[in-house]
Amino acid sequence: MNTISQSSCPVCGSSEWKVFFEIKDVPIFCNLLWSNQQEAQNCHRGDLDLAFCSHCGFISNVAFDPDRLEYTQSYENALDFSPRFQDYAKSLAMRLIERHNLYHKTVLEIGSGKGEFLVLLSTLGNNYGIGFDPSYVQLDQHQHTQDQVKFIQDYYSERYTEYQGDFICCRHTLEHIPQPTQLLKSIKQTIGDQKPDIFFEVPNALETFERLGIWDIIYEHCGYFSPVSMAYAFSSCGFEVDNIEEEFKGQFLCVEAHPGKTVTTLTAEQTKKVKQLAEVVKGFKTKFDQKIDFWKNKLETFKTEGKRVVTWGAGSKGVTFFNFLKMQNPIEYIVDINPRKQRKYVPGTGQKIVSPEFLEEYKPDIVIVMNPIYQEEIKKMLANMGLQNCVLETGV
Ligand SMILES: [Zn+2]
Repeated sequence: MNTISQSSCPVCGSSEWKVFFEIKDVPIFCNLLWSNQQEAQNCHRGDLDLAFCSHCGFISNVAFDPDRLEYTQSYENALDFSPRFQDYAKSLAMRLIERHNLYHKTVLEIGSGKGEFLVLLSTLGNNYGIGFDPSYVQLDQHQHTQDQVKFIQDYYSERYTEYQGDFICCRHTLEHIPQPTQLLKSIKQTIGDQKPDIFFEVPNALETFERLGIWDIIYEHCGYFSPVSMAYAFSSCGFEVDNIEEEFKGQFLCVEAHPGKTVTTLTAEQTKKVKQLAEVVKGFKTKFDQKIDFWKNKLETFKTEGKRVVTWGAGSKGVTFFNFLKMQNPIEYIVDINPRKQRKYVPGTGQKIVSPEFLEEYKPDIVIVMNPIYQEEIKKMLANMGLQNCVLETGV
């Protein structure tokens, strides 16, 4: 076992670091879907033992073992099929291009996935993009951008000092790394005297723990950042934080920074915020249990009333919803607009993923939308299929 040290916070090193929440045997991969139902149900499982640092506010799964996760090309976490998400990615790319004057520049992306965002940054600002991702696989629709974007199928590290950029971005990657400051230090080391602007996006721990977006607690995410722990991580690794914003209706945390001096102290205001988060963490187990009970009762009621129910969205939230409820087949199908997910099975509980068109015949009474941000686009799709009488519930 190569789990995170139990004794100290991986961000600030403080020993004021204590487990506050445990949930056992969750699938280690939410985004690795299966072609066979039984294999899906027998997937590898791991524990969530979440610890909180009362010095910097960082939260991490101390039972996380990175050796158990190997990101392969079958790892499917692209959200880009949704028009709502595409709009968000495009407006974010535009904003970054304007704010950082990214025209005819070199842009690096760490953890570039299949490259959708890097292609946006490169094409919209006429930039040259270099993406790093061990799970990179070329998409047909990106073939025409080959002159403008290059991908390296590896982790970003000091091995790649020859690749310098005017801008470095990294989205939804830092939360997968057990020692997140190692990546930040590695960037600092690799850029040397260069002064690129830095942009990071991670899930927002305030959304998960304070506002109870509990379906975002997954094995793949070992780290949960709030604005304070994020700012601390950056400043302690030699970056000056220019801006931290909550985006995507509070679900994401966006950080803009640049290389600067190293600061390892918290301001009085930051310490106050950590204390507030400590209170949230203290009451979390009770609120979590209440939410699980609420949904169990709700699904039981639907069953008693003979309602036909599906959920919409087979991403982390959709998969975790079933695995936290641990109910025996309350719902058979999950809808997802990503054709690469359809006809596959959900890890742990084994629901089948179907296309929206499947609903034309299945005619559900209730659709539970796992991410309310997609509610409007789902409503429109249902109406277009003549399913306007179907009741939409938000799975929050
Ligand atoms: Zn800490």
